[in-house]
Amino acid sequence: MEYDDTQLATEFAERTREFVNDVVIPVERETLGDGPADSDVVADLRERARERDLYAPHLPEEYGGQGLNYRDMLPVFEAAGRSLLGPPALRVEAPDEGNMHTLELFGTEEQKERWLEPLAAGEIRSGFSMTEPMQGGGSDPKMLRTDAENEDGEWIIDGHKWWTTQGAEADVLIVMARTDREAHPYEGCSLFLVPTDTEGVEVVRNIPHVGGEVTGMSHAEIRFDGVRIPEENLLGELNEGFTHAQERLGPARLTHCMRYSGMAERALDVTKAYVSEREAFDGPLAEKQSVRFTIAEAETNLHAARTMVRHAAREIESGGQARIPVAMAKVFAANTIQEVIDDCLQLCGANGIGKDLPIADFYENVRQFRIVDGADEVHKRVIARDAFSEVNPDEIEAITRYEE
Ligand SMILES: Cc1cc2nc3c(=O)[nH]c(=O)nc-3n(C[C@H](O)[C@H](O)[C@H](O)COP(=O)(O)OP(=O)(O)OC[C@H]3O[C@@H](n4cnc5c(N)ncnc54)[C@H](O)[C@@H]3O)c2cc1C
Repeated sequence: MEYDDTQLATEFAERTREFVNDVVIPVERETLGDGPADSDVVADLRERARERDLYAPHLPEEYGGQGLNYRDMLPVFEAAGRSLLGPPALRVEAPDEGNMHTLELFGTEEQKERWLEPLAAGEIRSGFSMTEPMQGGGSDPKMLRTDAENEDGEWIIDGHKWWTTQGAEADVLIVMARTDREAHPYEGCSLFLVPTDTEGVEVVRNIPHVGGEVTGMSHAEIRFDGVRIPEENLLGELNEGFTHAQERLGPARLTHCMRYSGMAERALDVTKAYVSEREAFDGPLAEKQSVRFTIAEAETNLHAARTMVRHAAREIESGGQARIPVAMAKVFAANTIQEVIDDCLQLCGANGIGKDLPIADFYENVRQFRIVDGADEVHKRVIARDAFSEVNPDEIEAITRYEE
């Protein structure tokens, strides 16, 4: 399918696809079903990505990246997403990719030197700590309870977080905390850079979860007990945490969509090959009409998802926040891709469940997509609010035939 991607993006994505096919997938095949690749394997893949000028496409050249703009990087993320090992090989995996973007946007020169440079080089890892346990902030960030108080030039953080991806392995966390209890609940929060070796940071546990054995991605529960950090570890403006988080999350939601659409595309490729080869009831499965219709619907919905992501990305690239297009793209892509992967698994029969093919790993991984970065319902709430804001009661008479 042709999209109106720039020539630069198309060529870059093509080179990425070749790299994933030639270098990443052979390594993936060795580790399929055996859990995540270890860090030496990932480091080696990154070196090979560097040799091909593919490493860190989203970062400026001064940080060892390729300097692609936001729109151009999306097809590259898609090509990388064809293997679960592709994003870490290119250093475009969550959450580090989004955290690097946040540091690039809001970090001071000193913060960039201390955190962004080693993150970009793949020398350290990071987490984004916002979601809290039961009485705190989850879908509703107004409920955020973690506090940060300024005392004698230091910030003191107290709170409890969970589902901080990579929190247990991270060297630094970006922590969202309330800095002004008097402010409107959507205001008065700020972001802080918290080194994980600071006294009072306690990783309570890694939360067991679906798909954990596949990607090796951990999600931590963390307590912050009187954690003291210097004033200069405030990231961005005081009390602008939610605004900054939105600027991080909007683009991050689309990069998620693109990594996952690469996964769906690969699942479809594998499935089309399987059903073309496999025979049942006097001919290849690929000749059965219901199989063909399933593939046709999957291709159609995936194309729609990709088009929606590109539309939202265009709005962001031209300076807008694109809240509604991003929400629509995220909900549609998450549901579509989950359904595509499930259909692919079904069409591959027992081999869909088996680990000789990558589809079972994708299946375990994709379920989180409808929850992470905002559950479906939360995005639909935003979309509906916008939709109803356009209702004008005065127009009802003009557009209906009934009378009051
Ligand atoms: C794999 C994974 C990785 C994550 N990584 C991070 C991370 O790195 N950092 C971080 O801070 N957080 C992370 N999260 C947390 C994620 O952002 C939250 O799970 C998400 O925002 C939903 O919050 P919650 O889990 O507290 O759900 P809850 O707020 O408890 O909501 C539960 C469910 O209620 C429904 N619901 C909620 N609101 C409404 C509504 N208004 N109307 C109707 N239904 C509604 C939805 O179905 C929702 O799934 C991660 C989550 C997952 C699954």
